[in-house]
Amino acid sequence: MARTRDYSWPPAPQALPVSVTDNHTHLESLADVLHDGVELPGIDQVIALAVSCGVTKMIQVGCDLDSARATIPMLEAHQELAGAIAIHPNEAPLHSRTADLGPDGLEPTYAQRHDVSLDDALAEIGELAQHPKIVAIGETGLDFFRAGPAGQRTQREAFRAHIALAKEMNLALQIHDRDAHDAVVEILRADGAPERTVFHCFSGEEELARICNEEGWYMSFAGPLTFGANEGLRSALGVADPSLILLETDAPYLTPHPYRGRPNAPYLAVHTMEKIAQVRGLELVEACSLVQRNTQAVYGTW
Ligand SMILES: [Zn+2]
Repeated sequence: MARTRDYSWPPAPQALPVSVTDNHTHLESLADVLHDGVELPGIDQVIALAVSCGVTKMIQVGCDLDSARATIPMLEAHQELAGAIAIHPNEAPLHSRTADLGPDGLEPTYAQRHDVSLDDALAEIGELAQHPKIVAIGETGLDFFRAGPAGQRTQREAFRAHIALAKEMNLALQIHDRDAHDAVVEILRADGAPERTVFHCFSGEEELARICNEEGWYMSFAGPLTFGANEGLRSALGVADPSLILLETDAPYLTPHPYRGRPNAPYLAVHTMEKIAQVRGLELVEACSLVQRNTQAVYGTW
């Protein structure tokens, strides 16, 4: 008989010794990963739990038109939050009706928000991004796992439009790069990367980390850093310029070890933070201070 899988919230870890920031989380999506019988906490509760664990600031990422719109009132209601908004690479082809099948074989799923053209959606992101608590454009980039040739063409166009917007508005850029390292690097170099460019949920190995070191691009580490099989990712962290290392959860996805498969929230950034310290051979207090300094260099303070 199959063992019943545990979908409940992982326990709160011991608080970090120095406050840190989860620089990439999707608080409006918490319900997406919950199963029957598991309680959906309010955003107030989720933030309070993170703060009690030493994750005192968070960047809320709204990367489809609905969640970008929903991000603004969240920023206004919670002093712990700053925001990032964009049209995600898996959303852009839906707006331009160019979504096709990628290697993952998933059929595109249209929603009402996709009735807005890609140009109009991008224009709205530009308007929403004028809010003073928006600190980054993202997540944008390329996802070659979820797109075929037509979708990839649209992703490239949308990525370039987001790069231009981040530069024009002097905002940081958060990049989603799935199975597309070379193309992402090529576009950033061709167009000129924004001054503060972050590979969100960094998924490269040493080679990409060395390119980021050369270019001064930030590498943001999430739960996969703690997964047993990801030796290449830990090697990348091992060679990363210390001034370019950031921390995130990408919650509610990518729950760190040993809680994989259960819901994720910013309080669980503690486990990834501990792994960063361990891989870098730093005391936890030093590693937290380093990551927090880097976070403020990218996004400022709020
Ligand atoms: Zn994300």
